Amino acid sequence: MDGENPNAVRIAVREAPYSQFSGRREPSVVQFPTRSNGKSLMVEQNEFHFDYVFPATISQDEMYQALIQPLVDKFLEGYPCTALAYGQTGTGKSYSMGMAPPDKPEHMGVLPRVLADILERVTARQENHKNPVLVYASFIEIYNEKPFDLLSSRPHMPMVAARCRQCTCLPLHSQEDLQDILELGIRNRRVRATNMNSNSSRSHAIVTIHVKSDTHHCRMNIVDLAGSEGVRRTGHEGVARQEGVNINLGLLSINKVVMAMAAGHPLIPYRDSVLTAVLQESLTAQAYLTFLACISPHRCDLSETLSTLRFGSGAKKLRLNPLQVAR
Ligand code: ADP
Ligand code: MG
Repeated sequence: MDGENPNAVRIAVREAPYSQFSGRREPSVVQFPTRSNGKSLMVEQNEFHFDYVFPATISQDEMYQALIQPLVDKFLEGYPCTALAYGQTGTGKSYSMGMAPPDKPEHMGVLPRVLADILERVTARQENHKNPVLVYASFIEIYNEKPFDLLSSRPHMPMVAARCRQCTCLPLHSQEDLQDILELGIRNRRVRATNMNSNSSRSHAIVTIHVKSDTHHCRMNIVDLAGSEGVRRTGHEGVARQEGVNINLGLLSINKVVMAMAAGHPLIPYRDSVLTAVLQESLTAQAYLTFLACISPHRCDLSETLSTLRFGSGAKKLRLNPLQVAR
């Protein structure tokens, strides 16, 4: 992506702060060796290497500048880009991605910051060009393996999968437009309370910023995945258990697509899940993809933390741009 790190796929890890509900404060299970140069962490005796590792003390601004701003640069050069947060419920996925209005400006997450950068640069370009460049947003939810267009007039009717590309796009001129769109979409989301967290979202949310001109249509996807915790921890039966299975299917399918691309397979299993089908255009050889693995500092979450980190280690092998394969 830059001279130092040319990978179109980057994996970052962000440690969540201590939860105020977790009782006695114990040391975090995650350690950040000072010699690692911000690229590795230790959990128990396991050392993991990533493109970036962010301890709980990192601010939203620092995370954005290091991880997402270079992605916006690529997007404005015309490449399809996706930033995707995954991990256990309660580890800061929605906070990091900026899916809800922040209570303080410093808590502002990725989405409004991306929009600010895009609007600023599109406006600057507009002054030198005759062709109008317009910015739009769409908001899709994948719930129980069905896609919902949260901005449409019928947000509770599943979309026909093949029509995901034709979802409702609303114009974005300002931060206020973005907040209105997020509020509308969030109202329309289906939320299931679970034992883990009463606000826990059991669905994947994909907000896409579209930049369109006469000749171009470029998409930047901000993806807030459903909690990756296993069914065993949610404690529900029936419908909720089925949801758990499907949520894991989505994550597994991303993993399979990632692995198939890493192995150079000619057939990539995009159709294995709605999530990978929706993201298909953004998971191509020209695409730029950034994973943010969100992890818990708590010992009781150790096994989820390890599986989140292992998924990230697997995704590190992904190579997208043909130039990189040739390296
Ligand atoms: P998830 O989407 O992964 O379930 P949330 O983003 O909802 O988790 O985060 C859970 C809670 O922790 C929220 O109240 C959020 O504001 C808070 N939180 C998460 N990460 C941070 C952070 N780095 N700094 C401050 N608060 C955070
Ligand atoms: Mg969330």
